[in-house]
Amino acid sequence: MEKFLLKNCDIADFNTLSCNRNDIYIENGFIKKIAPSILSSDLDVTVIDVNGKMVMPSFVDCHSHLLQTFLKGYLDDYPITDWLVRMFYAESLFTEEDCYYSVLAGSLSALRFGTTTINDMAMNTYFDAGMQALKDSGIRAVVGMGLTDISESINTPVHSTDENLTLAKKVYDTYHNFAPDKITTCVAPLGLPSCSDELMQRLKTFANERGLIFHTHLAEGKKETHGIKKRTGYMEAEALYHLGILDEHTLLAHSIWLEDYELDFIKQTNATPVHCPSTNMKISDGIPKIQQMLDRGINVCMGCDGEASSSNRDLVREARAGAYLQKGHTLNPKAMDLKTTYCMMTENGAKALGFKNLGRLKVGYLADLIVVDMGNDISLINRQTRISNFLYAASGQAIDTVFVNGSLVIKDKKNVLINEQELLEKCEELLYKYDKKIKKS
Ligand SMILES: [Zn+2]
Repeated sequence: MEKFLLKNCDIADFNTLSCNRNDIYIENGFIKKIAPSILSSDLDVTVIDVNGKMVMPSFVDCHSHLLQTFLKGYLDDYPITDWLVRMFYAESLFTEEDCYYSVLAGSLSALRFGTTTINDMAMNTYFDAGMQALKDSGIRAVVGMGLTDISESINTPVHSTDENLTLAKKVYDTYHNFAPDKITTCVAPLGLPSCSDELMQRLKTFANERGLIFHTHLAEGKKETHGIKKRTGYMEAEALYHLGILDEHTLLAHSIWLEDYELDFIKQTNATPVHCPSTNMKISDGIPKIQQMLDRGINVCMGCDGEASSSNRDLVREARAGAYLQKGHTLNPKAMDLKTTYCMMTENGAKALGFKNLGRLKVGYLADLIVVDMGNDISLINRQTRISNFLYAASGQAIDTVFVNGSLVIKDKKNVLINEQELLEKCEELLYKYDKKIKKS
């Protein structure tokens, strides 16, 4: 594996909100040394002078549907119930090639914006093509197939409970550790509104037996959450608690319609809610009690969700939206403060996905990091307040260098592994055909 020496890094310290000048030495995918003026006479080491730009751990996006990347712009301004019907139909029109390029385009956008680890909920639709795209992109990913045995909408692709278990097993057998050190699998039922209690419990047992992450939606729609109350007698998080689903390996996307007492179930079991503010706002899901969760010491992380609902793959913009929403909604300017928000974008997500050495710039940690260039933009002055300005004033566009697993993936804002111009042209060609298809139907 390659060796890199990054000289003159201004490493962001989220505790003091200041930067410390150091060099970083990377070898075999890990951060081996952080110190002032590291010297190397090893000819195999690639030396990059970062020249005083800000360096920080890269981001962990804990809830995505990369397959939906091609649907950006087709499903605007629908509430969740209508949106679901239309989204599943729109996805059913994809060809295998559409699926491959949709996932690839989403993965490369994530990398471009500094997300190097993504927790993706795929669908059975050409699942293999999506996995190949993830592998080809070079991103680190935890992937599960969205499973469902109750038809939540007329177009939901439903299978029997037994068939869902077979699919979960197939995903695990075929793709667990698909790309060495990069791609692994999880179990991903869509959520209680489209999964029977039996399916949820059997999938949880399946995940526990193999030490897998359990990734699902929780209490996203108000109407859907009340439907669960009617069906089970419980609110949705309460129902998951009684089914034995909640524990430290469980990620709960959205987590909006929760009663205060349900937050205690989440805290008690160490489950992790995922804040997805763009989707929550755009398809009018509602506003989750994120600050109340944080006040209770719950591990909360961030997710951009699918672009069919959020239209966004940039975790910086996502986190800013989430923080502003919490501050405004709670009338508390300290809600999702700067340090907390950066932790939600990095180490909280890494922890939720079971990584013990990811999400921080520290010796012995995986070398997943970003270099932020705000020096050439008059709108992003000043250097002394860069940590604040990156989150509150800039976007992922300010990132110019990205390392994943000790490999250089983005340099000078361009992907060094894939010709993005050719990819873009290919995607536009496919989308031109797709557009005709969806408008005709
Ligand atoms: Zn989702």
